[in-house]
Amino acid sequence: MSKTGMSRRSLLKTAAIGSMAAGGGTALNMAAPGTALAIARPLPASWDETWDVIVVGSGFSGLAAAAEAAALGAKTVMLEKMPTYGGNSIINGGVFAAWDDKWHYREKLNLGADSPQQHAEDFLRGGDYYNIPELCKTVAEGAVDALNWCIDEGGAQVRPTVTRAGGHTAYRTHAAKSGVGREYTEALRKIAAKLNVAPTLNSEVSWIWRADADPKSPVLGVEVKRGRRVLNLKAERAVVLASGGFSRNVEMRVAHNPQLVAEYNCTNHPGATGEIHKYAQAVGADTLQMNFIQLYPFAEPETGLLDAMAVYPFNGPGYGIVYVTKAGKRFVSELERRDVCAAVQIKMGKEAKPTFSIFNDAMVVPMGGDPQEVEEGLKNQRFVKADTIAELADKIKVPAAALVDTIAKHNQYLKDGKDPEFNKPITKAMITMEKGPFYGVAQWPAVHFCMGGLRINAKAQVIDIFGSPIPKLFAAGEVTGGIHGSNRLGSNSTPTCIVFGRIAGRAAGRAV
Ligand SMILES: Cc1cc2nc3c(=O)[nH]c(=O)nc-3n(C[C@H](O)[C@H](O)[C@H](O)COP(=O)(O)OP(=O)(O)OC[C@H]3O[C@@H](n4cnc5c(N)ncnc54)[C@H](O)[C@@H]3O)c2cc1C
Repeated sequence: MSKTGMSRRSLLKTAAIGSMAAGGGTALNMAAPGTALAIARPLPASWDETWDVIVVGSGFSGLAAAAEAAALGAKTVMLEKMPTYGGNSIINGGVFAAWDDKWHYREKLNLGADSPQQHAEDFLRGGDYYNIPELCKTVAEGAVDALNWCIDEGGAQVRPTVTRAGGHTAYRTHAAKSGVGREYTEALRKIAAKLNVAPTLNSEVSWIWRADADPKSPVLGVEVKRGRRVLNLKAERAVVLASGGFSRNVEMRVAHNPQLVAEYNCTNHPGATGEIHKYAQAVGADTLQMNFIQLYPFAEPETGLLDAMAVYPFNGPGYGIVYVTKAGKRFVSELERRDVCAAVQIKMGKEAKPTFSIFNDAMVVPMGGDPQEVEEGLKNQRFVKADTIAELADKIKVPAAALVDTIAKHNQYLKDGKDPEFNKPITKAMITMEKGPFYGVAQWPAVHFCMGGLRINAKAQVIDIFGSPIPKLFAAGEVTGGIHGSNRLGSNSTPTCIVFGRIAGRAAGRAV
């Protein structure tokens, strides 16, 4: 009971009802309308299925959680609302930040120093120190083991190089051999399958059951829609939320960040709609930083697609890729963070769309590219190729004299070790564009990633609005907030999802 004589449960209910009247604002209000009614929803009279652990979602975080829970002997179900598994993870660009790997590529390629501390510090600086330091440290420390787990236990393959991407201070970004996140989702799916867990498709979680929002009250299970059937599943040990972000839910993203209107393209899979955030809030979960939503500056300009070709601009900066406007001029330091790049593009206005990345053949393999992929890019007209910069300029309809001048100046900056235009830190690994063939790829920002979400602690426990862990409720991956602060550095989500998925799965498997 509080000093006012109200129990936390009645406070929650009052807050919810009050917020409905007031039209929204605090964490619980997110679920209005229907929140107060929902909290009062009677628990199911009986359960249709009983599991030890229920995992919601089958991306990196759900797969990792399910595998770890099952490894502890927990009878585990992994629920996926879509007809296919993998969410954003399976279409992801395959880049994975880890300060080391089992082959020690960075060291072998003489690409400078790195450490878990440096990686954690980059998380924080890249997120403007809005991040929760303990969570960043947990990811930076667990990333190498998570990568090696996918390789050793799941058969994932990575390309024999590492890149330095925007906002990172070290060469630590690993690229999947296949160039897509499927490399790791398949690895994780195989690890889970060995333990007899597979995603149960077409199973949409439509409620989280908790007797009430008293801090001692555990989560009991979930409601699931399967076709026309509505089932109630009991979780003896715990529920893990691994349902991803909400970039595809225009109403929800605009409610938090009014600039991100429907006119923006989106890189995400159609199921990134965020309803699980609301169900969690309705049972007392706290959220944070929901307004921090990231744009990917290098998506295909017309569709927002983030295909393998859209990853080259991201992987290229550490090896000398150059970003130019339609006028053939650089507009930002290529080693800048995504939010900085995208903000400059947006500020230039729609008439500036698209901008381009320019690179040459010598950069392809070092920056984690693949000659066969380049051929595919040319075939599907995502990449444009030419023997000279002037010819490339003509092909992408950029003034030739301006582009020739820009690239010549940039070559000189690399030789001088100084970029007087944008103060980009120059490294020895950067390659001058003196020899062709040269390539261009068009790019423009699209809504990409939700930095905000459910509040968790380093044990992946979901925290309620009073600051206590909600018993038997864990969360991992993009559904959570506070790890990336105001801006996620590219390639940091894959390790975040797998590291926290594993922590959540182990904790759920043990919970009683
Ligand atoms: C195109 C693209 C490329 C990217 N590339 C990279 C990259 O190279 N490196 C990097 O670090 N990050 C990248 N990211 C970000 C990263 O891929 C995601 O943040 C990450 O995959 C999220 O994983 P997750 O497990 O949290 O969620 P997801 O992989 O999205 O999985 C969540 C799953 O939960 C399901 N679900 C949602 N609601 C329900 C419900 N009510 N009931 C049942 N199931 C539900 C969804 O359908 C989905 O399958 C990329 C993102 C995109 C969109």
